[in-house]
Amino acid sequence: MIYEGDLKGAQQRLRELLDGSARAVAFTGAGISTECGIPDFRSPGGLWTQNKPIPFDVFVAHKAARNEAWRRKFAMEEAFAGAQPGRGHRALARLLGHGRLAGVITQNIDGLHQASGVPDDALVELHGNGTYATCLDCGARYELAWVKERFDAAGGIAPDCPACDGPVKTATISFGQAMPEREMARADALTKVSDLFIVIGSSLVVFPAAGFPLKARQKGARLIILNREPTEFDEVADLVVRAEIGDVLAPFAGDG
Ligand code: NAD
Ligand code: ZN
Repeated sequence: MIYEGDLKGAQQRLRELLDGSARAVAFTGAGISTECGIPDFRSPGGLWTQNKPIPFDVFVAHKAARNEAWRRKFAMEEAFAGAQPGRGHRALARLLGHGRLAGVITQNIDGLHQASGVPDDALVELHGNGTYATCLDCGARYELAWVKERFDAAGGIAPDCPACDGPVKTATISFGQAMPEREMARADALTKVSDLFIVIGSSLVVFPAAGFPLKARQKGARLIILNREPTEFDEVADLVVRAEIGDVLAPFAGDG
């Protein structure tokens, strides 16, 4: 079933599916954060279309790549640091608070699910978190302000770890970087128990993350896809809603 334009009908069907579910799981992508002013990956004009991502091996091998990665990061920080959770984030936090969701699996690195009140034990961040940094060798944590102070003082040179000289990187998973084992296992466990899997704002082209909706479907969960554009998985979904995420989820956020 595809809803396009019939907002009330889509919300009604979504509510019915949620009411009939005991263990619903939300799976979010960059689309849930665009109304908060953070561009997604693949929509036209996005920040990411201007800068080719720096692959993990290049980041590790070249100091110049690390300098460039941090330069971009701080440029983005200025634009997005003040971003607040949107209607989608708030709807999921509310559903979770009411025991209507078993958990949230996100590909996002913006920290907006936490900011909306989703507790860490109900949230799986598959691609890490961009609101702090870690040393790739010893795992020590560094705050962005710590990195920025040294980066600026050195005239745009990225600092290495004072403890072990290792490269310091935002705590995100780059292209070519191994997926975090613990988070993959947690996402797997949530997917296996889920009876309703709700994809929100993901183009579903980044793997292995995009494998979770398929796995849920294969395990017998119902699949909902909420995205303004078609995705590859629309034909196996039980419900497809092509609309603005915030508009669809506003009533679930308590916004009427
Ligand atoms: P994507 O950019 O590939 O897909 C986002 C999808 O959301 C698109 O299909 C787009 O049509 C849809 N969309 C955007 N705004 C929408 C809205 N308001 N309402 C309805 N649909 C909307 O994103 P992805 O699938 O998450 O993959 C991108 C990768 O880049 C992820 O791995 C993620 O970690 C990373 N990323 C994260 C952020 C963030 O943390 N906010 C932002 C950009 C990229
Ligand atoms: Zn270190």
